[in-house]
Amino acid sequence: MSARILEGAAVAAAIRERVAGQVRELSALGMTPRLEVILVGDDPASRSYVGSKGKACQQVGIRSATHFLPAETGADELSGLIGRLNADPDVDGILLQLPLPKPLDGRTFLDLVDPSKDVDGLHPVNVGLLHQGRPVFVPCTPAGVIELLDSAGVALQGCRAVVLGRSEIVGKPMAALLLARHATVTVCHSRTRGLAAVCSEADVLVAAAGKAALVTADHVKPGAVVIDVGVNRVEDPALVARLYPGDPERQAQLAKRGYTLVGDVDFTRAREVAGAITPVPGGVGPLTIAGLLQNTVTAARRRRGV
Ligand code: NAD
Repeated sequence: MSARILEGAAVAAAIRERVAGQVRELSALGMTPRLEVILVGDDPASRSYVGSKGKACQQVGIRSATHFLPAETGADELSGLIGRLNADPDVDGILLQLPLPKPLDGRTFLDLVDPSKDVDGLHPVNVGLLHQGRPVFVPCTPAGVIELLDSAGVALQGCRAVVLGRSEIVGKPMAALLLARHATVTVCHSRTRGLAAVCSEADVLVAAAGKAALVTADHVKPGAVVIDVGVNRVEDPALVARLYPGDPERQAQLAKRGYTLVGDVDFTRAREVAGAITPVPGGVGPLTIAGLLQNTVTAARRRRGV
């Protein structure tokens, strides 16, 4: 039987609507939230993400600006900019787009962001609060996954949840959020032994490994909810044909752009076993930016005492 498809767009639209209402309330008080984005270098994917974030802010009425810095920006210059944005009382949120070009180390600069403006939820203070179960800013992608699970009516309490990936930005905060919702959580990573066996115990499986189609039908318990966070560019026509047999849209996309975006889950096979599954694109992706908008409004309300 084919799984229920969990689309992110409708859930993201509902979050954006909620945020737009909150922005209107703040604007009526003369406190329109303001987000400042820092992009160092010219990575095309980062440029595109930053563009989408700016557009999304505009749509809900959040003021936003992007600081485009060249790849050869020095550590002093970057820390100086973060310091100025920290000190500016009119700035509510600061987002440092990752990854930074070498030799700049993302962690070093994330640590410099004022925790009260850390809308990505990656400052150690916010990471600590999240793990203590009293979150302020939840990293946007895992927050979006929880919104999606809730909107689909997935009962998390007492379920077996497996998170595939242990990054600071997705895997670890995802595990913390599932734990806070009383799931029994296992975190897998590149050194996990018997990955398929562990994953196939999950009632809820969240894949965030960054490896195209790593999760096959063998990793999925019949009826499980499968959330695919992965976004991977696949350029190999043979692989695309294997993953999406008889899908002319994918073939057309490949021919036009030279690549297609594939999740960490072999969607075609896994959907035959799962009870519900997210597609890529169109599943988790739209929720990430919605989470950023929500965090920016949260920052503005807290900082401005609303
Ligand atoms: P990352 O590279 O920082 O972490 C990947 C994790 O997966 C690591 O913990 C690693 O141990 C684990 N892993 C890698 N290969 C594995 C394997 N073969 N078996 C088991 N575990 C393995 O990546 P990330 O930043 O957490 O992102 C993960 C994926 O999610 C990427 O594809 C990324 O593009 C995507 N992503 C999507 C969104 C979105 O909005 N949809 C947001 C963030 C990240």
